[in-house]
Amino acid sequence: MEHVTAGSSFAALAYLVAGVCFILALRGLSSPTSSQRGNRFGMIGMTIAVVTTLVTHVPVDQLLVTESTPAFDYTAILQRVDYLTVLELLAAIGIGAVIGLVTARRIAMTAMPQLVAAFHSLVGLAAVLVAAAAFLNPMAFGIAQLVVPMIGEPFAYIAPVSRVEMGLGVAIGAITFSGSVIAFLKLNGNMGGAPILLPGRHLINLGTLAAILLLVVHFTQDQSPWVFWTITALSFVIGFLLIIPIGGADMPVVVSMLNSYSGWAAAAMGFTLHNSAMIITGALVGSSGAILSYIMCRAMNRSFISVIAGGFGAESGGGGAGAAKTDRPWKRGSAEDAAFLMQQAEQVIIVPGYGMAVAQAQHVLREMADKLKEHGVRVKYAIHPVAGRMPGHMNVLLAEANVPYDEVFELEDINSEFAQTDVAFVIGANDVTNPAAKTDKTSPIYGMPVLDVEKAKTVLFVKRSMGGVGYAGVDNDVFYMDNTMMLLADAKKMVEEIVKSLD
Ligand code: NDP
Repeated sequence: MEHVTAGSSFAALAYLVAGVCFILALRGLSSPTSSQRGNRFGMIGMTIAVVTTLVTHVPVDQLLVTESTPAFDYTAILQRVDYLTVLELLAAIGIGAVIGLVTARRIAMTAMPQLVAAFHSLVGLAAVLVAAAAFLNPMAFGIAQLVVPMIGEPFAYIAPVSRVEMGLGVAIGAITFSGSVIAFLKLNGNMGGAPILLPGRHLINLGTLAAILLLVVHFTQDQSPWVFWTITALSFVIGFLLIIPIGGADMPVVVSMLNSYSGWAAAAMGFTLHNSAMIITGALVGSSGAILSYIMCRAMNRSFISVIAGGFGAESGGGGAGAAKTDRPWKRGSAEDAAFLMQQAEQVIIVPGYGMAVAQAQHVLREMADKLKEHGVRVKYAIHPVAGRMPGHMNVLLAEANVPYDEVFELEDINSEFAQTDVAFVIGANDVTNPAAKTDKTSPIYGMPVLDVEKAKTVLFVKRSMGGVGYAGVDNDVFYMDNTMMLLADAKKMVEEIVKSLD
């Protein structure tokens, strides 16, 4: 436990520099071309913040004993540093760094969303632990005064403003933690992606949220442990309740929303620890996550409020949820058929999805497009905002395969073109092409804008089997349409075969 030197001009300046680095990092991350530079700024900012915290760190017991000394004299603080504690901190940082390094090296690109959800849960848990530590030992955090009453034991009186910070911090942290754990389980496939709709859930959610807010207000008057721990427990419960009703197709919004919550939780911790770098960073993460969630809600035709209120719009029933109905007639094609059809086409629109990422088919896909262009075919790529398993997933993979940027189009810019296109080549995408989103009110993806692939003269659909469904777990009518030819195989293998046939 530590008390950060709020008054130290050195620490304040260093934290400000770290904050500026984080702002530059965010700016860099806004475009693929500057993202590496953005990452570097982020690393520099974090190094400055960690080193500053370490060198200005004051062991609590010594801080209390030497209260009369000029508390924020930088050299005096350095002399008082308890080196054993610094070693302990370095050991903890080392262990964390090794875990982070190994995870980053091992993680598959397709498992990134669940990794992000797991990281958010850790930020939430850290906020809860810091708030709990501050509540249990408020003198150590410099947020309390020792009161010696005429009768009874002396106690630490926590300043009401610190109680508000602590109450909000622990509430947001606990919601982030349990919400992110559920998001992780859903994204990792340990829990079904379908919404779990409890009867009377809106009433339960609103009641629990109101109770948390009332308790935070009550906490300013009464610092009894039961108030603090009840806020914590109810917040863990509401985090869980808010995420279980969210259906598969809305998970991208949930991930960015939890990202935003984790930022606010960190900012609240920053107030408790009097750490300006954490306040700046938390506010940056919180607001950028909120903006991303809002943009994604608009792209998905979802109401922002309904998603943060825990699947407010989701209705029971689940539509056509379940495995594909293979008893309906469908047509199977081969790589040669596909090559022949595409060679004859004037325009081919490629629709990549999660399956392309799983198969790592992006490089051979670009080869196929190059061959088609040699045959005089116009090739375009249509990108749905939630294709794959993370925002920008398809753009990153296509950029990695050096697909020219001017061939890649967002949904709203290309959707009207399918009607005049000879071939829609759907590779490992499913939900983002499902017309049920336009017609079936009971479908969990109803209302989400989808790519109108069925309007193309011919649809070539690459997936491994007729039984496999997309993330939202719903059957897709496009498989059974007269103008659809199913190409059943691993995406990479199928495209390699098509390239051979084009030769
Ligand atoms: P889907 O998950 O709907 O469909 C993926 C398709 O790929 C399946 O039909 C699957 O069928 C096929 N597939 C899987 N592996 C392979 C392979 N090796 N070769 C060929 N085909 C394969 O993907 P979409 O991209 O269409 O949609 C994304 C979904 O994920 C949406 O519901 C979205 O809401 C959700 N989501 C998106 C996030 C984001 O930020 N983008 C985050 C979290 C969820 P089969 O098994 O038969 O091969």
